[in-house]
Amino acid sequence: MTLLFVLIAAAAASGWAVFTVPEPVVDRMLEADIRKQAIHWQRRVLLHMQHAEESFEEGTIQPHDAHMLELVPQESDVFRFSLLTTEGQVFWSTRSEEIGEYDANEFFSTHVARGKIYYMHSTVPAYEVDGFPLQSSGYDSSLTREIAQVYYPLTHNGHFDGAIDFYTDITELRQTFIYRVRMSLIVMSSVALLAMAIAVLVVFKTNRIRMNQLRARAAKDQEIMASQMQLAREVKLLGELNEWLQSCRTLDELFKMVSEFMSHLLPDAEGSIYVFSNSRDVLDGCATWNGGTLKDHIQPDECWGLRRGRTYEFGSTEVEFTCNHAEPHDGRPYFCFPILAHGETVGLMHLRAMPARAGDFTSCKPLAQMCAEQISMAIANVRMRDQLHEQSVRDPLTGLFNRRHMNESLRKFLNNSELNCNRLSLIAIDVDHFKKFNDNHGHDAGDMVLRAVSTVLENACDGDEVACRPGGEEFTLILPSVTPEDAMTRAELLRQSVEEVTVRYGEKALPGITISAGVAHFPAHGLLPQDLLRVADEALYEAKAKGRNQVCVLGTGRDRAATSGSDETEQPPEDRRAAG
Ligand code: GH3
Ligand code: MG
Ligand code: MG
Repeated sequence: MTLLFVLIAAAAASGWAVFTVPEPVVDRMLEADIRKQAIHWQRRVLLHMQHAEESFEEGTIQPHDAHMLELVPQESDVFRFSLLTTEGQVFWSTRSEEIGEYDANEFFSTHVARGKIYYMHSTVPAYEVDGFPLQSSGYDSSLTREIAQVYYPLTHNGHFDGAIDFYTDITELRQTFIYRVRMSLIVMSSVALLAMAIAVLVVFKTNRIRMNQLRARAAKDQEIMASQMQLAREVKLLGELNEWLQSCRTLDELFKMVSEFMSHLLPDAEGSIYVFSNSRDVLDGCATWNGGTLKDHIQPDECWGLRRGRTYEFGSTEVEFTCNHAEPHDGRPYFCFPILAHGETVGLMHLRAMPARAGDFTSCKPLAQMCAEQISMAIANVRMRDQLHEQSVRDPLTGLFNRRHMNESLRKFLNNSELNCNRLSLIAIDVDHFKKFNDNHGHDAGDMVLRAVSTVLENACDGDEVACRPGGEEFTLILPSVTPEDAMTRAELLRQSVEEVTVRYGEKALPGITISAGVAHFPAHGLLPQDLLRVADEALYEAKAKGRNQVCVLGTGRDRAATSGSDETEQPPEDRRAAG
């Protein structure tokens, strides 16, 4: 805008200059031009005179010279001229009436007499110009002419000899000069204005380009800033996810956290996680987020990621195949990340672009990959912890819970039963004459028998019932929430089941074995774990003492034993409390 104002101001200034400046300039140019011409005029005058020197010296003129001088105005632009002596007296003039007059101008003595050409420019009425064609009728008295008067000093060896006073009409010449100067100025100012306009345009364009560059850079900076902030947010969320996943105790807990975090980390992708079942023939659906499809089970060969053992990206290449599990098959791009734990594929993370966000889905692959890796590590950790825990609570030979777990479970169940006024029964089991069995058939055969008994016990457990092997050929069953009658029945059924078991060892079938069992009930036989275990053991000894292969329970309140099927009933805890 400022540049435009400058341009307009320059145009106005050059317009003003074109119409006002020329006259003074032209007058100076004219003066220079006339001064040059005066040299030629004085030469011409002197050429026409045969006795010029004497004439100027004496202030007289020969008739021949006078006659010749009459011709000068016809041969030059001079319309009038006079010859002056050193004192300034006119001794000859084209106007005869002036002859004999003295020039009264001061500059004659100050300039001309000192050898300097004197120039004067004036405007005079047209009739003052000799030979100017004045019209006979309708003469305009206001008509004026531009006149240049030049005093040309004649010198010889530095001596002033006289002067010639020339008059010339410069009206047309002056107009021509004015016209030419104006034209030159117009051309020059047009060129200048054009150059200025080009300069302004260049500056304007350059500024605009610079402005656009600055804008583009600002936009780019903003974009970088936004992506850095996004990256920082993702890194922070990833760190938090990692921290939370490290503190997960179970896979269920882990999957809940994964769903929560993934919906924040990758808000434009819906997802689901599948984990191999224990049998490893199917994968179970475990978690989903952002509305991702979650199937209960999928087959491993339904997924190209699992089949090829690496990330499968659908929607990025020309030729590709859809995974069967990736429903609906609507062409949206998706990723299948195999989840690896300690080098083994344990599951699959499936990520799919949300319907309106398919465009830049590929850009989230690195972050998704990092998430998959963190989830893999977390699953591996939880699994390892589960494994270690299993190892610490399981008996390696039979897979049943060990003594430590038995004690912990019993304590928990009893606390729970105490709080909820529930019943609980404990069955202590011991294989009969097992030492002899070992002696007869070998330790390995004995182990097989122990495993067979364990299987019977494990199969007999329902819900949160627990089968344990506290040691040797002894077993314990914890039955929470069962009545004493049911517990006795269950013990008897177990005894019968074991009696019916046939164990094959190599080619031969081993002889049948039997068990003895002692039962203790909460709260009838005690409130503490050690009390119940002791009573169950005592009942077991009772069963042994009575000839083995039977179930015994101790009486309550009296130190007498009662065999299974005893009609002695016990008070339920609530009745006991009410009574007590
Ligand atoms: P009872 O009917 O009185 O219980 O007689 P028993 O021989 O079964 O009892 P005893 O306590 O005398 O012997 C237990 C035997 O169990 C001794 C040991 O060799 C055997 N045993 C303990 N642990 C294992 C084991 O892990 N594997 C095998 N094969 N035998 C075991
Ligand atoms: Mg024993
Ligand atoms: Mg035994």
